[in-house]
Amino acid sequence: MKEKGGEFVWFDGKFVKWEDAKVPVFTHALHYGTAVFEGIRGYAAKNNLYIFRLQDHMERLHRSAGVYSISLNYSAKELASATVELLQKNKMKESCYIRPLTFVGLHGIDLNVTKSSPTHTVIITFPFAKYFKGEGIKVCVSSWRRINDSTTPPLAKAAGNYLNSIMATQESKRNGYDESILLDLSGNVSEASGENIFLVRRGKIYTPHLADSALEGITRESAIKIAKDLGYEVTERPISRTELYMADEIFLTGTAAEIVSVSSVDGHVVGNNGKEGPVTKGIREMYEKIVSAGAKEYMNWLTPVWQT
Ligand code: PMP
Repeated sequence: MKEKGGEFVWFDGKFVKWEDAKVPVFTHALHYGTAVFEGIRGYAAKNNLYIFRLQDHMERLHRSAGVYSISLNYSAKELASATVELLQKNKMKESCYIRPLTFVGLHGIDLNVTKSSPTHTVIITFPFAKYFKGEGIKVCVSSWRRINDSTTPPLAKAAGNYLNSIMATQESKRNGYDESILLDLSGNVSEASGENIFLVRRGKIYTPHLADSALEGITRESAIKIAKDLGYEVTERPISRTELYMADEIFLTGTAAEIVSVSSVDGHVVGNNGKEGPVTKGIREMYEKIVSAGAKEYMNWLTPVWQT
């Protein structure tokens, strides 16, 4: 991740220079995590830049804000147009990451955030390539449990939720792994620190249902649609830790990570040799074709930035 992104940041409806996009130290979100955000990718392809599922991300931002009564003063459509304009203003031609963020501003030490609490919305863009380097990542099951709907709801993509992901990530990196898988409070698999998880057994695909301990990933939903269109059966059901050790294939999905194959879990090699299996490969290749504007039937998932 770069420390400086595009020249401009969209800040409450204005284009502000990156250096000038600042907040006061008493900003509520800095103290209490009262912010909701999105992570979106733009893909350079065919002489254009295509934003993946832009409107869907902005709608999820609205749902996340709603959970915490954080008022968001711009419609999903307005935010989507602002993103396109910002990328144009930043002359962005290369693949990039887009970070919309809505946060509670000056609200003292008052924990009663209501629809009338002051909020701000920013959109930040910066060039971005691969999140995980290399093919096939090594994961562990974290000793930390995933947050739960009964505490801080994971269905909302809220800043505060990421402290849980940070604990899990720190532990996994300390122990030499690339990523961590968290179990929910009942001991079933929920998701990775920043991705949803799928496994393949005997040609069928399984993923945890989203009852109460995982984010409604947009890449997850895209992968399910792609898998079904490719003719695979996808079942959402509870998944135990041991099933990860028995899986033929495992892959993670997320905006940053995209579709990435898992080579081992807690040192147990996935499948025969830990290499990306045929099901994961088929879905990943289709996803890559879609985001690079190579699949006509999925073009409605892409928003072009430049008029050609
Ligand atoms: N779970 C968590 C905890 C995440 O942070 C992310 C990344 N946004 C995901 C899942 C994947 O979601 P998406 O596919 O919408 O990026």
